[in-house]
Amino acid sequence: MEIGIVGLPNVGKSTLFNAITKAKAEAANYPFCTIEPNVGVVEVPDPRVDKIAEVVKPERVVRAVTRFVDIAGLVRGASRGEGLGNKFLSHIRQVDGIAHVVRCFTDPNVTHVEGSVDPARDIDTINTELILADLETAQRRLERAEKVAKSGEKRGKIEAEMLKRIIDGFDRGLPVRAHEFSDEEKEILREIGFITAKPVVYVANVGEKDLLSPPKEVDIVREIAAKENAEVVVLSAKIESELQELPEDERALFLEDLGIEEPGLNKLIRTGYALLGLITFFTAGPQEVKAWTIKRGTKAPQAAGKIHSDIERGFIRAEVIPWEELIEVGSMTAAREKGLIRLEGKDYVVQDGDVIYFRFNV
Ligand code: GDP
Repeated sequence: MEIGIVGLPNVGKSTLFNAITKAKAEAANYPFCTIEPNVGVVEVPDPRVDKIAEVVKPERVVRAVTRFVDIAGLVRGASRGEGLGNKFLSHIRQVDGIAHVVRCFTDPNVTHVEGSVDPARDIDTINTELILADLETAQRRLERAEKVAKSGEKRGKIEAEMLKRIIDGFDRGLPVRAHEFSDEEKEILREIGFITAKPVVYVANVGEKDLLSPPKEVDIVREIAAKENAEVVVLSAKIESELQELPEDERALFLEDLGIEEPGLNKLIRTGYALLGLITFFTAGPQEVKAWTIKRGTKAPQAAGKIHSDIERGFIRAEVIPWEELIEVGSMTAAREKGLIRLEGKDYVVQDGDVIYFRFNV
């Protein structure tokens, strides 16, 4: 999955992105991830992987990863091509989700492009640009859909009605994600690919001293998020960056001093995961324990296809044990002997935390 980081200039995007690149996953483990300068690949923090590894004792452990893309250049007027406007929009169309960094810290030494700290105005500035870009798409699609609807086609009618609702929402400043949609409409939406339909997590960037008692700016961000089905993560980009500079064994102490339980980055990754409807299954053998990311609702053969297309094609069955049960009995062999491993067929919907061994025809 890929999350795009956006926000006005000087809100802390680069600081957060730096923390992400410093936390980066060991590249050797992830040869499939091409590393570009504006992309940071981080491991998904998941204690289950370590617990499974303790039991299975594999040669190596491979975690799931998330990609963060630093999408610079969103300024007032971007939808009209100002700043890095067009380039920006083409980047943002490609990501699965958006982390929108909002400045909630006051620091007289850091200029605000709009002159003052005002999260509601800042969020509105960015969302307006994205809505304007989507409005153009919506109007173009509506013309077409109305023609199709006239010819009596049902799907055209559904699309036209949905687009009118969406455009009406744009007039009131509502992003696409603020609406509810039927399954049929959702399918059409996937095809259109509106930017404001993408899931959003607002990253409220607070000052170092405000982490434990967030300022009123954070409440404003929460209110806005609640209205448009978005999430909020509160962190201090500066702290995240300092944290990643410390050797690993000193981090826990640093967090304890601050009075927080875990890095904000972990919260951000977890929230992103949930927001995108992603879950994890594991494969566990003597060579490797590995976490795999799938969409909730994925069936066993398609989950197997993440590992290799041959396994999907030749799928016979999945041998499944929930990770907690595996930990409890102590080994795969013991689990087999006790008959704890379930045999599941091609219609099995993989559950979060399943440890799976796939049988397939070569
Ligand atoms: P960008 O333009 O959004 O990428 O913003 P930067 O990450 O470059 O940050 C702009 C300025 O704000 C820099 O001088 C940062 O050091 C400062 N900054 C970022 N996050 C924080 C924070 O949490 N607290 C304080 N005091 N300053 C911050």
